[in-house]
Order: sequence, then structure tokens, then C-alpha cells
Amino acid sequence: MTDMWHTDLVRYDDSRPRIARIVLNRPDARNAQNTDLLYALNAAFDRAAHDDDIHVIVLAAEGPHFSSGHDLREVDWRENVAKRTPVGTWAGYRSPGAEGLMGREEEIYVGFCERWRNLPKPTIAEVQGKVIAGGLMLVWPCDLIVASEDAEFVDNAVAMGANAVEFFNHPWEFGIRKAKELLFTAGTLTAADAKRIGMVNRVVPRAELTERTMELAETIAAMPLFALKLAKLSVNSAQDAQGRMVVQNTAFGLHHLSHSHNVQVHGEIVDPDFVARLTRRA
Ligand code: ZN
Repeated sequence: MTDMWHTDLVRYDDSRPRIARIVLNRPDARNAQNTDLLYALNAAFDRAAHDDDIHVIVLAAEGPHFSSGHDLREVDWRENVAKRTPVGTWAGYRSPGAEGLMGREEEIYVGFCERWRNLPKPTIAEVQGKVIAGGLMLVWPCDLIVASEDAEFVDNAVAMGANAVEFFNHPWEFGIRKAKELLFTAGTLTAADAKRIGMVNRVVPRAELTERTMELAETIAAMPLFALKLAKLSVNSAQDAQGRMVVQNTAFGLHHLSHSHNVQVHGEIVDPDFVARLTRRA
């Protein structure tokens, strides 16, 4: 990689045979996702996908927390997408109102998540600390999740006056009833509970997280790549046959209804009182 933003925000390590290790590298901001970081991450995934020597991709994060979600402090968010070469076809990122916002989120949120979810090689998320809202959108597209004991998962979008995060996989990740509870309460799911309900594959001590994740990656990397691809596509097809994209498209439309409502009522795409509301709840 020659572009600076690749090395600044996302590290790429293919020094181990058959394994690409991608590391979010914005620990001072708790790996909050701005436009630059997401394009850097997408480029890293593409690099691993296009390298025929890579069988398995690990996504990890520097620092005490995996990701605090989308960077709500990013100011020029329309322009920051518009200046890129898009991976999708929605476009219109500079358009006013809902059109530009939806275009942006089609491109860098749902669009990227779908690309990563459908990347035909096994992917493993290595997760520690807090995974908040948009943080789930980096973890859930991966095929397997290894979490440290201190990992916590929360989608607090409803508390922000929004309809869940943009990649709406909640019913499959949490189960129907737990999805409602966690969304309605902005509740936190512990690593142990996440394993119990099947959202994560393994929970390990924090000090062993990388070692245990890479052991799992090495086991998978020894398998024939084409068979891995076929197995992944088959399991994903089972989920898609359950109407996943119908649910995704419906929820994303309602998500943008909530953004438009917030702009009309509050002048911002999320309710600015959400921090106070969460503080009162605590
Ligand atoms: Zn949104």
C-alpha cells in the first residue's frame, strides 16, 4: 500500500502464511469510524480478497476498545465521500437533504458492510473492550467472532432517536426477542452473554486474545481455499433465503425516516439530547 491513510488508520500485515491481519489503528479516538478509516479498511479487505495466497482475514483493533462507532464529529462528511472513487453506484453524495445522506450511508455503511460480508474468504473479528453502535457493523459482517472477556456490545441508536444501526443484522445476531430488548433499552451485551446466544464463537482472556484468534485463523488457513469459499457462500445463502435483504432494505429505509425526522425536529440527523438521556438512564 502506498497511500498514507492506509498506514495511518489501518495496518495490514501478511507476514504469516495465508493470513491477512487488518488492524484498525485509531486508538486515541477509540477507533471511531470516519470516512478515511472506512475507505482504508475497505481497501485492506480488497487487498486481502485479491491476494490468492491469502485464505483467512483477521480484523482486529489497536487499543483498549474495538470501536466506539461512527465518528459523529466528522464535519465535511458529504464532501469526504464525494471526493472518493466510490465502490457503489448510489452517488449524489453532495445532494442536499435526505438524498445526499442516504447516498453516503448506502456507500460507506451498508455498501461496505455488504461487500465485507460477501467477501468469499473466511473472516474473523478479534474483539476487545467496547463495541458501540457502528462498531457492530465491523464485527457482524465477519464470519467468526473471537471476543475477550471484557468485550461489550451495544446498539444505542434508538436512544439517539434513530432506527438501529444501518447494517440491520440484529434479528440474526441477537435473536428476535433479545434484539428488541437490546434496542429498546440501549442495553449492553456482555461477551459471556454474546457467546451464550451464539453471537460470538469464543470468549478468551484479554491477554490471550490475539494468540487464540490467530490459532483459529491458522487452523482455517490450512483448508483448501475453494472449499472454504463454497462453504461460506452456502451458509450465507441460508441466511439470505430467510429474507435478510428484505429486512435490511426495510430497516434501512426506516433508519432514514428517523434521520429525516430528527433533522426536521432537532436540526441534526440524531437527537442531540441522546447523551443526556443515556446519562439519566445510568
Ligand atoms: Zn444513519
